[in-house]
Amino acid sequence: MNPALPNIRHLGIQELEDYITQIGEKKFRVKQIHEWLWQKHAHSFDDMTNLSKDFRARLAADFMLPALKVDASQHSADGTIKSRFRTFDNHLVEGVLIPTEERKTACVSSQIGCSLSCKFCATGYMDRKRNLSFDEIYDQVVLINRESEQQYQQKLSNIVFMGMGEPLLNYANVMKAIERISAEDGLFMSARRITVSTAGVAKAIRKLGDDKVRFKLALSLHAANDKKRNEIMPINESNNIKALVDALNYFYKQTGNEITFEYILFKDFNDGQKDAEELVKIYRQVPADLINIIEYNPIDAFQFTKPDEEGIQHFMQFLESNRVNARLRRSRGKDIDAACGQLANKG
Ligand code: SF4
Repeated sequence: MNPALPNIRHLGIQELEDYITQIGEKKFRVKQIHEWLWQKHAHSFDDMTNLSKDFRARLAADFMLPALKVDASQHSADGTIKSRFRTFDNHLVEGVLIPTEERKTACVSSQIGCSLSCKFCATGYMDRKRNLSFDEIYDQVVLINRESEQQYQQKLSNIVFMGMGEPLLNYANVMKAIERISAEDGLFMSARRITVSTAGVAKAIRKLGDDKVRFKLALSLHAANDKKRNEIMPINESNNIKALVDALNYFYKQTGNEITFEYILFKDFNDGQKDAEELVKIYRQVPADLINIIEYNPIDAFQFTKPDEEGIQHFMQFLESNRVNARLRRSRGKDIDAACGQLANKG
């Protein structure tokens, strides 16, 4: 593959039409190519079997089609499957299929590595190499969906942007990927089944509101005051809790879309009574539907552990007694480093 050539999936329909006209091909070819690229998931021009050999060769001479490839897969005892994907320029990125009775959820990555250095997250210890392009994000969904059909005979029901990277720092590609995933001439999955999770980029949350997006938003809060949040999530220094609360309210006013908080419990750090009280206060300031309380999955580089069962239950009970809609999320895929915060291309 010649990386100097333009990526055919980055052409808009009009540009594809112009190209087809320019080389003297019939207009109906545009629809055929578009279908191969976005619905039949051709990963090489040779796959496009209703085009003549000469035409395929011409396309291959003029464009590249850099599709993501599955490099390795690991199966957890609980049914979770972690896939490692290789990009055309030899980077590795991970995605996870999380199956339950009712749902088959894909957790996808938005960047190769991450620049935000959250202390509890294995990806945060890798450098950010580059953003994933929208077609690479789209490919993850296609490949994880294929896995779901093969292993569980079911299509994906949900997609969460909770893999490697901060989606809102790759705004344009994430938006375009979601447009392609939800488009009728794409995967045609409702945007309502997609959740974008952010470490908290206030300006971009407001932009989501202005762009009137249709997907759900999750904020990785993980600490309920600025001092503690600064300690584990350096992004909080420039996007503090007040700024995030304001941005989330703006997002809700503009879209009415569901907002959830994510809160990982760390033993003796954010699992005390005062922490729970502060968390309730924040919950009351935002029209949030839910707080997901997440079991921490230890990583080598970070000293924290998870609270014991009693501590977890105590925290949950406090939230419930304050009428907070909170759910405890047990980790999935821990045995293969596929759980929340563990993606680091180790497997
Ligand atoms: S938690 Fe998300 S934003 Fe923070 S370092 Fe990990 S991948 Fe990046």
